[in-house]
Amino acid sequence: MTNAELLNAAAAHAIRYLETLESRPVGATASLAELRVGLGRPFPETGEDPARVIEDLVRDAEPGLLSSAGGRFFGWVVGGALPTALAADWLTSTWDQNAATNATAPAEAVVEEIAGAWAREMLGLPSGASFAFVTGSQMGHVTALAAARHRLLRDRGWDVEAKGLAGAPPIRILATEGRHESLLRAARLVGLGTGAITYVASDTVGRMDVAAAAEALRQSAEIATIVWLQAGELHTGAFDRFAALCPLAKSADAWVHVDGAFGLWAAASPKHRYLLEGADQADSWVTDGHKWLNLPYDSGLVFVADSLAHQGSFAQTTSYAVPVDGFRNQKDWNPEWSRRGRGFAAYAALRALGRAGVADIVERCCAHADRLVNSLGALPGAEVVASPVINQGLVRFLAADGDHDHRTDAIVARVQEQGEAWFGGATWGGKRVMRVSVCNWSTSDRDIARAIATVREAVADCAH
Ligand SMILES: *Cc1c(COP(=O)(O)O)cnc(C)c1O
Repeated sequence: MTNAELLNAAAAHAIRYLETLESRPVGATASLAELRVGLGRPFPETGEDPARVIEDLVRDAEPGLLSSAGGRFFGWVVGGALPTALAADWLTSTWDQNAATNATAPAEAVVEEIAGAWAREMLGLPSGASFAFVTGSQMGHVTALAAARHRLLRDRGWDVEAKGLAGAPPIRILATEGRHESLLRAARLVGLGTGAITYVASDTVGRMDVAAAAEALRQSAEIATIVWLQAGELHTGAFDRFAALCPLAKSADAWVHVDGAFGLWAAASPKHRYLLEGADQADSWVTDGHKWLNLPYDSGLVFVADSLAHQGSFAQTTSYAVPVDGFRNQKDWNPEWSRRGRGFAAYAALRALGRAGVADIVERCCAHADRLVNSLGALPGAEVVASPVINQGLVRFLAADGDHDHRTDAIVARVQEQGEAWFGGATWGGKRVMRVSVCNWSTSDRDIARAIATVREAVADCAH
C-alpha cells in the first residue's frame, strides 16, 4: 500500500465513523478490560504492515469510543468537532509545524495572531489583552496564575521568575466551593498550593456571594489576592456577578481571574451576553475552543489584560530559534515549547462561523438544554434541580422508598446502557443528580426527542 492509499483508507474510516454516529451506541460497548485484550499484545520485535496496524486500530478502538462527536452525548461539557475545524485539524497534523516560535512555524504564528484577536473581540475582552493557545482551560489557568503571580509579587518588590516562591510574600486565592478542580491543580503547579485557597460563600446555583466576597477581601487585606470567578458554573452554568465583584476586587488591588471554560462563549450571543456584564474588567480569562466552539481537542485559550505580566512570566530568548521581531512569537505567551499548531482549527472555525454562527450554536444549545431539562423534569417522579441558565441543567428522580440518590444513579446507568443518549451523574447540594449538558454543534430537535424517549423508558424500567 502506498502512503496515499494508507491516508485515504484512514480518511474513509474517519468519514464512515462520522456518518454512522446516528446509529452507533452513544456509550462504549466494550469494557476497559475487553479493550485491553483487544489492543494488547507483546511489543513487536519487528514492525508490522502499516495498513494492517490502522485497520486493527479502527476495529479494536471503536468499541471503546464514546460518541461524543455526535448529537446525543450530554455528559460533562465536551462539544464535538465542526467539520471545518476537523478538516483544518487534519491539515495541522499533516503540515506538522512546530508551533513553538514564529521561526519554526511562520504561518501558524500569523494564524494565531489573527484567530486570537478575533476570539478576543467576539468575547468582548479588552483589545490590549494578550493571549495564548494552550491545551485547555487547565493550562490556561496555570498560564493566568503565573501572570497573576508575576504582577502581584512584582508590586511587592519580589521578582518571582528569578527568586521563586520560597520566602516570597504570600498570595491567596478567593474562590467558591463550586470551582472546577482544575483550579486546585493550577494552584499546585504554580507553587501557591491548595492551602492558598479560601472559600467564599455562594448561593444555591453556585454564584459567589458579593457581601461574603467583600468581607473576605477586607480580612487580611494586606495579602496579595486572586479572586477566582466563573462564567458558567460546572453543574448549573451560573455566572458570577462580575459587575459587582470586579470593581470590588479591583478596589482591593486583587487580580480577577474568570474561568469561562464553556460559558465565556455566551458573549457571542446577543441573547445571553448580559450574563457577562462587567467580566471585561477582569485581569485574565480562560475558555476552551474544544468545548462550545466545537474545535477538536487540545484547544484552550487564555487572555491576560496586563500583557507585560503575561510576557514577563513566559518570554525567553535562545540563539537557535531566533524569532522575527515585530511578529507574534508564540513561546513568549505559552507554557510549552514544541506543540501542535492550535491556531489553524480556531482560525478556520471562526471564519466559517462568523459571530452569527457562534451565536447560533450557543443559542441552539441553550434552547435544547431548556427543552431537555424541562421535559425530563416533567417525567413521572422526576424533579428539576437546576434549570438551565445557559446550556446546563440538573434533574433527579424520586423514589417511593425515599432513596432518591439510588434511583437517580440507577436511571443514569440504565440510560447509558440503552445507548441512545449519554448523561452522567454528579452530587450537587448533597444530592445525586443527572447532569444535562448540551454543547455539540450538531444536536438536533430529533436528537433531543430521542434523548427524552430513552430517559422515559429508563424511568419506567427503574421502578419507584
Ligand atoms: C472543562 C472545564 C475546565 C477544564 O478544562 P480543560 O479544557 O479540560 O483543561 C475548567 N473549568 C470548567 C468550568 C470546565 O468546564
